[in-house]
Amino acid sequence: MAEQQKYLYGPVPSRRLGRSLGVDIMPFKVCTLDCVYCQLGKTTETTIERKDYVPVDAVLGELQEKLAGGPETDFITISGSGEPTLHSRLGELIDGIKKITEIPVAVITNGTLLYRQDVRADCAKADVVLPSLDAGDEQTFQKINRPHSELSLEKLLDGLCALREEFSGRLWLEVLLIEGFNTDKAQIDKIVNAVKRIRPDKIQLNTAVRPAAEPDVKKVNRAKLKVIARQFGCKCEVVADASPRRSVSSPNGKQHDELAATTEEYAEILLSMLKRRPCSLEDICTGLGMRRNEALKYINHLQRQGVIDFEQRRGTVFFKAK
Ligand code: SF4
Repeated sequence: MAEQQKYLYGPVPSRRLGRSLGVDIMPFKVCTLDCVYCQLGKTTETTIERKDYVPVDAVLGELQEKLAGGPETDFITISGSGEPTLHSRLGELIDGIKKITEIPVAVITNGTLLYRQDVRADCAKADVVLPSLDAGDEQTFQKINRPHSELSLEKLLDGLCALREEFSGRLWLEVLLIEGFNTDKAQIDKIVNAVKRIRPDKIQLNTAVRPAAEPDVKKVNRAKLKVIARQFGCKCEVVADASPRRSVSSPNGKQHDELAATTEEYAEILLSMLKRRPCSLEDICTGLGMRRNEALKYINHLQRQGVIDFEQRRGTVFFKAK
């Protein structure tokens, strides 16, 4: 039986990156921020300490094995169940990936540590960096992103601008809008001005389409997103999936549509996983980076279609393809 994937998920369909093979290099919710829209729930303790959180050799070993199976993927995407730039060996990991494959590497980050030269140098090894900016002033930054006490919006903006100067790859900035938090005209004007300073290659507007850490987080409707997008100019696109199509859980707590997929698409990914080996609910949650209730939805979907079955082994239920 193949080893269970510990650090990889997917490849999954992504609206921003095509097919994306995810690499999760952070323990659950170790983050510099505690965003109100985080779909992983509250951050128990914010940190800015870079550490060797998970073993890079093990991640690379798993990746090498996965790629030997020849999965079709457009990007290898480094994110995490927290903030991936907190990993002190991020640069080494990207170097290692580049030795194994020519598939481009993307890093999804909240951008808060980019004020550090070592973090920028690590990120600059990637082909695409996808940072975030959700606020145009300090008060809104504190309200939405609830950062570690040593972080500030100005530090975030300085880091983003410095990365732009030093990085020759693609910089795609995500702006996540929450109704009533950062959608009034004055706030949008401030974010637009900040984006002008950063000069990203693309601006991707998103909204909170999934259950968030805080109950008062409301999504912005698509028509309004499109109107706001015009203010950011021609490099801006709406990537939020506020239509009946929906996005699925990401190991990264961002409401990123990085893993946007229909129920059908995700059920298909789950089915292919179960065809390879029987999995417990726990295995499915870990492998696909989703919460139990979400995994259960896709399991139920496949059960209704009659394509999966289950069996009990030593008190644990294992799901398997028929
Ligand atoms: S949304 Fe991302 S950056 Fe914000 S708290 Fe969650 S994991 Fe951290």
